[in-house]
Amino acid sequence: MVAERQRSQGDWQLYRRLLSYVVPYWYLFVLSTGGFVLYSLGNVLLADLLQYLLDSVSGSGEQGRGLLSRVIAHTVEDGGRTPAELARIVVPVTLIMVTLVRAAGFFAGSYFVNCVARNLIHELRCRLFDSLLQAPSYEFESQAQGKLVSKVTFNIEQVTGAATRALKTLLRESLTLLALVSYMLYLNWRLCLLFLAIVPAIAWVVTLVGKRFRRYSRRIQVSMGDVTQVTAETIRNIQEVRLYGGEATQRQQFRRASSDNREQSLKLAFAEALSTPIIQLLLALSLAALIWFALSPQVLTGFSAGSLVAFLTAAAQLGKPVRQLSGIQSVLQRGLAAAEDVFAQMDESPEPTGGSLRIERARGDLALRGVSFCYPDSDHLALSELNLEIAAGETLALVGPSGSGKSTLVKLLARLYEPQTGTITLDGRPLSEYAVDNLRQQLGFVSQHAPLFHDTVYNNIAYGAIAKAERSRVTSAIQAAHAQEFIDRLPRGLDTDLGDDGGGLSGGQRQRIALARAVLKDAPVLIMDEATSGLDSASRARLQEAMNAVMRGRTVVVIAHRLEIAQRADRIAVMDSGRVVEIGNHRELVERGGLYHTLWQQEERG
Ligand code: ADP
Repeated sequence: MVAERQRSQGDWQLYRRLLSYVVPYWYLFVLSTGGFVLYSLGNVLLADLLQYLLDSVSGSGEQGRGLLSRVIAHTVEDGGRTPAELARIVVPVTLIMVTLVRAAGFFAGSYFVNCVARNLIHELRCRLFDSLLQAPSYEFESQAQGKLVSKVTFNIEQVTGAATRALKTLLRESLTLLALVSYMLYLNWRLCLLFLAIVPAIAWVVTLVGKRFRRYSRRIQVSMGDVTQVTAETIRNIQEVRLYGGEATQRQQFRRASSDNREQSLKLAFAEALSTPIIQLLLALSLAALIWFALSPQVLTGFSAGSLVAFLTAAAQLGKPVRQLSGIQSVLQRGLAAAEDVFAQMDESPEPTGGSLRIERARGDLALRGVSFCYPDSDHLALSELNLEIAAGETLALVGPSGSGKSTLVKLLARLYEPQTGTITLDGRPLSEYAVDNLRQQLGFVSQHAPLFHDTVYNNIAYGAIAKAERSRVTSAIQAAHAQEFIDRLPRGLDTDLGDDGGGLSGGQRQRIALARAVLKDAPVLIMDEATSGLDSASRARLQEAMNAVMRGRTVVVIAHRLEIAQRADRIAVMDSGRVVEIGNHRELVERGGLYHTLWQQEERG
């Protein structure tokens, strides 16, 4: 019960939050509502017209309580015409006018509500994307990427359905319902109340089914996330899948996710398909009872034939809005379930923006003191009580067995993560004092994989905050990174489109583009994850030259996977189990005969 109450409070907040997106477009909303009011009045007037027509031709001379009959009685001179003759003119003319107004109302209502909905979706989608851009780094590691993509695509699509189709139907049909019921109340309120006795039963069915819809929709969302995830993973790792014969595993995972989706969707379809006929049955029962009472001699005496027909026509017309309203329940609930998830993602606290310190250009002194760090959801320390000082202009190589914490250290330097204990300083000031964007301006970064964007070579180098760099600076960065020669050989030179993640480039070429990007940024501190291991000796030599050029005059922290790189560094920090266990230059460390010496021997032998 308590949980139920909390949930309905949650629902309220959800509606209010969604409505807050509509507020800026209130004028479109008003226009749309105005349109649908006209449309629903049009529906009523058509029933009313029928009453006027019947009463006019019945020859009884009696006019019922119809709206049109009254207006005509007061405004139109009959000029000696019989009621039937008058109706011959009035009915066609009014019919055309009412239909025109109704059509205009329908157009304005539908179009403007779509304007509201489309703006809402656009805003929501952009804010969701912004929240992803600002999410802390661990979110991207802890949540499967495919699932995040599915939030921006599938979930938003669900909200779109609710916002466009459901909002339109909700507005149009509830206004029609309101207009018809008011008209029936006006014609004969007792009969109308009798008819409305069915409402609680319908409401009960609608809420019951609504809850089920929401539950199934949540599960459908999760399964859609799984479908996207498996697809994305398979596409990304297609080579491994093929070479390791993983087709069966991937197929099985995909089928499981897809069949889960099918089952939940079918459950939803079952509830959806059942709810409409049940509601129609309830309505028909009510209508049957209504006719039985309406035709009783007592009621009949107070009614003209026209009024009776108009009343029953209005009652019968109620079927459509009720059917439509119950029909959009599933769309609405799917949208609400998706909105819940989208908002939950948006409410994740963003990456901290850091302090207020801003500097023009750092000298490049780095120091780590007693730094310990544990990844969220991990049970062991990735860095433990680590101490390290790097002087401005120095090149420090990090070496050590895999899992010793080299990448983690680098991530902490870039403040992608924050240490749980200890401090990291740049020029003597803790990283947390710097505004994060200012801190990152001081850092150049060349990662091992050298990710590329689906854009031209030029835009891949002049990327992000350096996109506005002068062309001459871009070309000198390319030269410094020794990338000119291969770029010239590309079909359209700098304007060649690199395709998805630089599809056609070799590892060394990718690295040189990434280096050029770092040179162009010209940051005082450069962090590199060396990636020469996979290259042949010629490409390795070229890349090495490029790296030397890029490193000059900066503080450099380079993760060295090959000790040949480490050898050239001013100092080498040897890491093991999250600590720096040895530090010195190549010669000193070899003489010392410790872990570095062992690694060195291993590489020599290899
Ligand atoms: P290296 O770069 O030296 O190979 P890492 O810094 O990647 O080492 O890893 C250090 C430790 O942190 C390892 O024990 C590894 O398992 C753990 N680790 C690395 N990345 C994550 C992560 N995203 N989540 C949890 N643990 C991680």
